[in-house]
Amino acid sequence: MESNAPKILIVTTGGSIAQTSPMDPTLSGDDLVQAVPELRDMASISVEQVAQVLSADISVEDWLKLACRINSALSEDDIQGVVVTHGTDTLEETAYFLNLVVESEKPVVVVGAMRRPYSLGADGSANLFNAVAIACNPNAKGKGVLVTLNSEIHSARDVTKTTSNLDAFKAAGLGPLGYVRSGRPLFYRTPTRMHTSASKLHFSCRILPRVAIHYSYAGVTPDIFEATASAYEGVIWAGTGNGNLPKSLRVAVGEAVRRGLVFVRASRVNFVVVERNDEVDDDTLGFVTADSLNPQKARILLMLALTKTTDPAKIQEFFDTH
Ligand code: ASP
Repeated sequence: MESNAPKILIVTTGGSIAQTSPMDPTLSGDDLVQAVPELRDMASISVEQVAQVLSADISVEDWLKLACRINSALSEDDIQGVVVTHGTDTLEETAYFLNLVVESEKPVVVVGAMRRPYSLGADGSANLFNAVAIACNPNAKGKGVLVTLNSEIHSARDVTKTTSNLDAFKAAGLGPLGYVRSGRPLFYRTPTRMHTSASKLHFSCRILPRVAIHYSYAGVTPDIFEATASAYEGVIWAGTGNGNLPKSLRVAVGEAVRRGLVFVRASRVNFVVVERNDEVDDDTLGFVTADSLNPQKARILLMLALTKTTDPAKIQEFFDTH
């Protein structure tokens, strides 16, 4: 590769893209890169391993490590972009965390695979090739953290895993930002919410506040909420429909909010923009609403917002703008 080739750092964390056995991701980052010789024609690549886990085991500590490493790599003039390989189960969470804390306009692309290496029709190599192609592309700059699988390019904010098929990753209600065709990234949309260098949620602390997610269902009773609320600084309510909260829980939640808990209404529905003060009087109760973020992404935004403020009105502004 010529010396003026774009320099791309690939950071590996495990997941099916590296998983040759049912229990563990076993392939190293070098193994992943060697499996795609075409990468060498595109970029000068270095590889680092930050974790080697199935993504159900990705932790907040892993996120902090990743964010630090990516921010320091992107501050180097000669690094053009970063690719993160990741298990698909929590890929959207890591990608959204990075979308809020990376302090650079340079491309960061998170990629996984729905099929393991050596399985029939394995998609990891093609996805990794596309991820590097996106990271090398000047049009990917300033678009926030991107996710690619199945030749689609998604915003980390909007995308979620929807099935176990090859086209698992979708941005319900909003659509992809673009596609990769024959190694060429094509963008059609650009994210409008604050991200990366414009995010107001950069952080310098080593510990993030604890935020739980409570899932609602017909007949839900206050006991599960009460059992955990006191141990957390924030709760995301994965409510029915418009993030609704049954009347049977309002006293318990109201008391927890008066004690200082931040309560955010999201929805268990695939894509909903939660409306404030509709069936629930958010202004009176001091609740926050999650806009269109799903519960697992609302949790990430709230953890970061709680490092800045506990004021529900200010936290609502973060949800409305990020
Ligand atoms: N179990 C895998 C994970 O680590 C699934 C995948 O990567 O597709 O998330």
